[in-house]
Amino acid sequence: MNPSATTTVTERLRDRVTGRVITPGDADYETLRTTHYGAPDARPAVIVRAASTSDVVVAVAAARESGLELAVRSGGHSAAGHSTTERGILLDLGDMKDLEIDVENRTATARPGLTAGEYNTAAGRHGLATGFGDTGSVGVAGITLGGGVGLLTRRYGLTIDSLLGVEIVTADGGVLEADAEHDPDLFWAVRGGGGNFGVVTRLTFRLHPVDEVVGGMLVLPAAAEVIEGFARLVAAAPDELTAIANLMPCPPLPFVPAEVHGRPVLMAQLVHTGPVDEAEEALAPFRALAEPYADLVRPMRYPEIFQEEDMGPMPEIVSRGGFVREFGAEGAALLADAVATPGSPRIAQLRVLGGAVARIDTDATAFVHRDVPMMLMLVAFCDGPEDRARQEAWLEEASVLLDRATYVNFLGRAGAEEVRSAYPGRTWDRLAEVKRRYDPQNLFRLNHNVTPA
Ligand SMILES: Cc1cc2nc3c(=O)[nH]c(=O)nc-3n(C[C@H](O)[C@H](O)[C@H](O)COP(=O)(O)OP(=O)(O)OC[C@H]3O[C@@H](n4cnc5c(N)ncnc54)[C@H](O)[C@@H]3O)c2cc1C
Repeated sequence: MNPSATTTVTERLRDRVTGRVITPGDADYETLRTTHYGAPDARPAVIVRAASTSDVVVAVAAARESGLELAVRSGGHSAAGHSTTERGILLDLGDMKDLEIDVENRTATARPGLTAGEYNTAAGRHGLATGFGDTGSVGVAGITLGGGVGLLTRRYGLTIDSLLGVEIVTADGGVLEADAEHDPDLFWAVRGGGGNFGVVTRLTFRLHPVDEVVGGMLVLPAAAEVIEGFARLVAAAPDELTAIANLMPCPPLPFVPAEVHGRPVLMAQLVHTGPVDEAEEALAPFRALAEPYADLVRPMRYPEIFQEEDMGPMPEIVSRGGFVREFGAEGAALLADAVATPGSPRIAQLRVLGGAVARIDTDATAFVHRDVPMMLMLVAFCDGPEDRARQEAWLEEASVLLDRATYVNFLGRAGAEEVRSAYPGRTWDRLAEVKRRYDPQNLFRLNHNVTPA
């Protein structure tokens, strides 16, 4: 688009938007044009910091009428670089942070600019929570639209399993309320189908009684039998217990003895939502897997589980993630070897599913991988091109553990086939049909894209 046409779009946005319209040269442009996690060094033509649903309608109309690429950002954690656009319109919802909590009915209505940490800190004041991921800074909107796997997953299901309805601005500028009764196909599609169908401007969630939990970090040696035992124990544990384990060389953590730093460890985040005595009983076999290097698991308020985040410069990484159907001794040995290999670090993250996730019908949401026992994310740091080739070769080798199907929230820059593998069989056709109805021109295409049928 020529510069004068872009200027016209910007002027029209400035006239109509009540939030902020930011262009190159404005204060904040440099900090807002990209994000810490995975966003490319792009320069949007204009950034709309929306203040309301009407601002979103205006920005969507500007993209539709101008043909400029539209990026939609809530928490800005897209690993695929979808949180910004080169010379397009960046619709940034980060200022839309209202949260209404209905304690009596145990529901919460959130605007998309909220992060998981902000939401659960506020809900935690009432002894309530909704499960998002393991990281407080992830946006509630992005994680929900992809599914949402976190530390309450085995007890209360995926984030989408607590989603009661959304307000969504569709490609034609309509503002719809989608839930089980209104536009049910659209509501099915947004629960796992990502940002393909419109801009979600409000999300209503069920809140669960999660006040004091027994949770925190357990650090064990990353020997193959410990890894295998850990996965087996979580799968057999009561639903109250959810765990995420990171296998990695031990970082220089102050609560781990200095001689362990650099050695391969299994660093688990555990959350048990039941009474303390039941939690202690469920946790005992984990503590018995090996002498822990550190045991920080204790009664705590649930929001305390979110750790402080390192916002320092991001090293170059390569990654691959997905579902695991068979793990066992061989898989555990492969991962134990990988994290013990000298050179730039490798991290393998294991999430055991099951529990409440598996009890919901496969057809109920666009996330369909409910029978899969485990997820695995492989991340490798790279120190230059030669090292990158070495790490990519390892990813290829370790990928024998992964099922063909993928989880959209863990996809980086992915090809069409990889995106499609997140929606096997009929799910893809059903999504493509919903896409045809609500976004036939594929206006919302800067995402893990489902093309209209
Ligand atoms: C450090 C880190 C930890 C993570 N931990 C977990 C975890 O524990 N569990 C898990 O399931 N995932 C996890 N993820 C993945 C995360 O869920 C996805 O990257 C998610 O898309 C991020 O949402 P966001 O709103 O922060 O990101 P954004 O970059 O703002 O959004 C990502 C994409 O979602 C879509 N989108 C966002 N908001 C809207 C909206 N309001 N309307 C329509 N479309 C929208 C857009 O397509 C956008 O490009 C993690 C990611 C990171 C970087």
